[in-house]
Amino acid sequence: MSSGFTADEEDLYFDTVEAVQRRLRKTRNPADLLAVIREAFKGFERAFASAPVAARAAVACRAGCGTCCHNEVAVQAHEVLIAAEYVQTHFSPADLEALVARAAAHRTAYAARLVDPAWVWPKTPCVLLREGSCSIYEGRPGICRAYHSNSLAGCITNLAAGHEQVDVKIRGLRGRMFAVMLGIDQAAEAAGFDEHAYDLGSALHEALTNSQCAIRWMRREPAFPADCREDMDGHAPA
Ligand code: SF4
Repeated sequence: MSSGFTADEEDLYFDTVEAVQRRLRKTRNPADLLAVIREAFKGFERAFASAPVAARAAVACRAGCGTCCHNEVAVQAHEVLIAAEYVQTHFSPADLEALVARAAAHRTAYAARLVDPAWVWPKTPCVLLREGSCSIYEGRPGICRAYHSNSLAGCITNLAAGHEQVDVKIRGLRGRMFAVMLGIDQAAEAAGFDEHAYDLGSALHEALTNSQCAIRWMRREPAFPADCREDMDGHAPA
């Protein structure tokens, strides 16, 4: 693995892979498999809590910011299904209907990249961002859990630039959080689950309108159609 991880971060990565793989192997009922990954998300909290004090103190992220929620959100299939499950168990019918409409509009806009070579990410908010806060906070994807910044001004500059112009990474924290995220993803992939990267808004729309997605994932098939796949270059996914 070429990771740029420190030795500690690499240990955390391999420990996460091993622990999640072991739990997936022991799970006999396919309906319980997603819960194994949801449970593994607690590893983010442990990784944060055990990060150096100075690294934790450098976090500039505050409730109600949401600047990083205006970037493209690339996720794994299991993260989409966990987000959809959270929505279905916590949202009112009216909020669910409004979210499906937002996600449908997002999906249509995102699909435009397949036919327009000049397409650029419009920097619109994530469909799950409501009044500056994540509406599925406890069920949010790994990348949202792993990301911390040392500078709000840096995040705003980077969003406007469309790339990381200012280094907002927090040494001693980013690597630990990414070790957990990549460890979970690697364990799921090694167990044969869908390894494609998906656009969160597009795949969430599919998950909320098609109950077959979760069944396909459990069967270790691609959970979502090709138009939901993440493709940073704007080319049609293979
Ligand atoms: S899922 Fe939540 S935390 Fe992640 S980008 Fe969307 S609103 Fe932000």
